[in-house]
Amino acid sequence: MRLAALALSLSGLTGAGRVHAQRAQTPPAPAPVVYTIGGRPAPGGCESCAEWSVPHAPVRVHGTSWYVGTRDLASILIMTPAGHVLIDAGLEATVPQLLANIKAVGANVRDIRWVLNSHVHYDHAQGTAAVVAASGARVAALPWSARALEAGVMPADDPQFGMAFDNPRVRAVRVLQDGDTLRVGGLVLRAHATPGHTPGSTTWTWQSCEGGRCVDVVYADSQTPISADGFRFTAQRGLAEAVERGHRTLETLPCRLLITPHPGASRFWERVAQGTRAGADSLLDVTGCARYAGRARAAYQARYAKERAGSPLR
Ligand SMILES: [Zn+2]
Repeated sequence: MRLAALALSLSGLTGAGRVHAQRAQTPPAPAPVVYTIGGRPAPGGCESCAEWSVPHAPVRVHGTSWYVGTRDLASILIMTPAGHVLIDAGLEATVPQLLANIKAVGANVRDIRWVLNSHVHYDHAQGTAAVVAASGARVAALPWSARALEAGVMPADDPQFGMAFDNPRVRAVRVLQDGDTLRVGGLVLRAHATPGHTPGSTTWTWQSCEGGRCVDVVYADSQTPISADGFRFTAQRGLAEAVERGHRTLETLPCRLLITPHPGASRFWERVAQGTRAGADSLLDVTGCARYAGRARAAYQARYAKERAGSPLR
């Protein structure tokens, strides 16, 4: 559309045509994001989105893995000569800064092959469709998340059903199973089911190598039992057992470098600051995943106890 307008304006550079050409240089302001829940406008919009949208420059995590998200919402770009992978596209409104960060680390947006996701809540998935449109990438996800991404609305068994905003729909999501791998060039990414925060919550792992040294990177999904009023984790068949299996997975995965969708949950910025001060790679944290799993288990046990006791949940 914009290219067509530019071509038209350049075709006759007389007075008005010149003005048109100059105007065409300025990209149009993006349309404001309309927040909906179950297809209906959400009055009040998104309270936390301004805070979550504060920009941040890209940070190298390790090797060719980069943090390219905002200050409070992680997006991870893993670059390979055969194409790139992006995990979590963040909010729709912050996609322009995400794409700018991706270009800033030397990657071509059109070389993104896959867009993956930790969980389908809007703060990590609302930008997925826009990144797919900009890159031509495909999306791959575990079955529950694949259905939710294709539907655009939260399924009724999501703990935040009726509370979390919708996402623009994504087409033809490739369905992976727990433990499946996705390969791009020499990069092998593995999907692990770590449900609870959503039924489809996914932890992604890969090996990053730099100068002959390889580390196991874990992008572990959120582990907070947050829900809409009326949702009971203890009333979902098989959920407590699946959540515990996920915590065991997090405890036993090879893990030397933990990253989380909300970076504060794994002290990401403190570790970045330590690394800057020490001049060393302090992002490495060999006990990070085990401690993260321990805190997650404690949070879910506390929530189950409250539900069983009939205590207020918030
Ligand atoms: Zn969430």
